[in-house]
Amino acid sequence: MNAPVAETRKFEAEVAQVLHLVTHSLYSHKEIFLRELISNASDACDKLRFESIAHPELLVGGGELHIDVSWNPEARTVTISDNGIGMTRDEVIANIGTIASSGTKRFLEAMSGEQKADARLIGQFGVGFYSAFVVADKVTVRSRHAGAPASEGVQWESDGKGEYSLEQVELPESGTSVVLHLKTDEDEFLKRWQLRSLITKYSDHVAFPIRMPVEKDDKPTDEWETINAASALWTKPKSEISDEDYQSFYKSLGHDFNDALAWTHNRVEGSQSFTTLLYLPSQPPFDLMMGGRDERKGLKLYIKRVFIMDAAEELLPNYLRFVRGVVDADDLPLNVSREILQQNRQLERIKAACVKRVLDLIEKLARDEPEKFATFYKAFGNTLKEGISEDANNRERIAKLLRFASTKGEGTQQTVSLDDYIGRMAIGQEAIWYITADSYAAAFGSPQLEAFKAKGIEVLLMFDRIDEWMIGSLSEYEGKKLKSAAKGDVPLDDADKAKQEEATKEAEPLLKKLKELLGDRIGDVKVSARLTDSPSCLALSDYEMAPHLARLLREAGQDMPESKPTLEINPQHALVKRVETETDEAKAKDLATLLLEQAEISAGAQLPDPSAFVQRMNRVLLG
Ligand code: ADP
Ligand code: MG
Repeated sequence: MNAPVAETRKFEAEVAQVLHLVTHSLYSHKEIFLRELISNASDACDKLRFESIAHPELLVGGGELHIDVSWNPEARTVTISDNGIGMTRDEVIANIGTIASSGTKRFLEAMSGEQKADARLIGQFGVGFYSAFVVADKVTVRSRHAGAPASEGVQWESDGKGEYSLEQVELPESGTSVVLHLKTDEDEFLKRWQLRSLITKYSDHVAFPIRMPVEKDDKPTDEWETINAASALWTKPKSEISDEDYQSFYKSLGHDFNDALAWTHNRVEGSQSFTTLLYLPSQPPFDLMMGGRDERKGLKLYIKRVFIMDAAEELLPNYLRFVRGVVDADDLPLNVSREILQQNRQLERIKAACVKRVLDLIEKLARDEPEKFATFYKAFGNTLKEGISEDANNRERIAKLLRFASTKGEGTQQTVSLDDYIGRMAIGQEAIWYITADSYAAAFGSPQLEAFKAKGIEVLLMFDRIDEWMIGSLSEYEGKKLKSAAKGDVPLDDADKAKQEEATKEAEPLLKKLKELLGDRIGDVKVSARLTDSPSCLALSDYEMAPHLARLLREAGQDMPESKPTLEINPQHALVKRVETETDEAKAKDLATLLLEQAEISAGAQLPDPSAFVQRMNRVLLG
């Protein structure tokens, strides 16, 4: 240890930026500082309790972990202290002076641009400590790591403006205390009832006792009183827990300011006993789609009420990564490590139970609470779709929960289930028809749907990015095949088939002419059974990728095999007839090429040469 005893350091540039953002934009929610600091104290107690399993000597003074909140009207300070794990000098520097976690960086990225700093993001990104500077113009942290000698205490102090000082100090007890020197107009936090009501509101279900000094003659005394419920909420019987309790516990999990949408609380008894309390948020967290994958927080694993770790990855499949909550297992070894967890049989069973509970809950919403289900689906429907390929065992259950727009639905709204669809299938209809495209308009307007519309066959309209990929894993539902209206054959009755054959025979010379005119830009030309109004469309084989997707992948830099499309034409259409009768070779070629290009455009494909297309169109327009 040859670090200097006292020194002044500059915050990393990003920390200064975060501080500025947090203090200036959180003003309307300034009381959250207390929740954030108590949450840090509670984390520190959790960590020490976990460490003490292997090293019981770390628990000193009777071993009761607690969090103390006190105020001093003369000094105008509020102090939050804990006897948890504490920090070494290096940890203080790493955790509150630099960008310790990737959280801070992501927070900044999320905050830059149009986005206004939003209170609900603070806890989520792990920048909670800095909320102290919303109400304080100076913050003093004193900390001593559990197990370190009294002489190795460290004092950190800053006005939150760019620098902080560090000093080695003597601290009689391990743990951390955070002293807030309040700004001049923050006197409201010097009142016991005010602090107390905030603790009840935000931190009642913190699992450690939160204590406050008893007050006498408007002054704090030396006597301490526990003011929170301090019980692990999930261990109580459901009948003793109110909705408010559930909601306040949800918020104390520390990732969301909004109410939870719904929850499921269960105890499994038997050869393996465990409790799960799982919540569906009402809004997607900021980083569900972006950074959410590499650092998943939100599901805490406890073993016999001892917090072990954030174990969302071990306890939930990826497609349920929006779920928050607690799993408390009775029978796992307390010294379990992440590596052991990953191959633990018992854990596999707990994971399966979590999945089942969550799917039960979503099904219940779909059945009994359509508005809540709609909120859920809007927020997480696309994430849930990943389960179709990720979770083959539950594919049918997940598919039942999916909702789509449809040619018989309510406009762009995604409200039609596969069961709705099957319930109104025409007599003799065998498949569930769908089409994928870039947008609702592109899907609904696809020329490929014309015959379906004319025959009154419903087609599901899929236009979310993930749909094309998802549908690759959903070839069947309730014994019915899912088929793309843009691929393969269209459903024809015998009369249709006869007509189709006749039309093809009649169009033979036309087909031959088109093949010659279009040369190697196409694989084949056919008379379409899909078209009633449009002159042409593309038809894909069952295994071909939708053109809009192929375009996206190409744009993303993937090498896609060139495939030559099959062009389908409608011989009744005036434009097609013009190709047939046009004797000027150059003009006929322009017309034929435009038939192909308009089919490519409406399928969302990429035109190989857009400027040639424009010139061609202008030639034809000018006659
Ligand atoms: P987060 O809690 O999400 O990590 P914070 O900004 O709230 O982000 O805290 C930053 C880090 O500072 C914590 O991860 C922890 O390592 C450390 N820390 C803060 N408060 C305490 C405390 N009371 N005891 C021990 N460590 C703490
Ligand atoms: Mg925190």
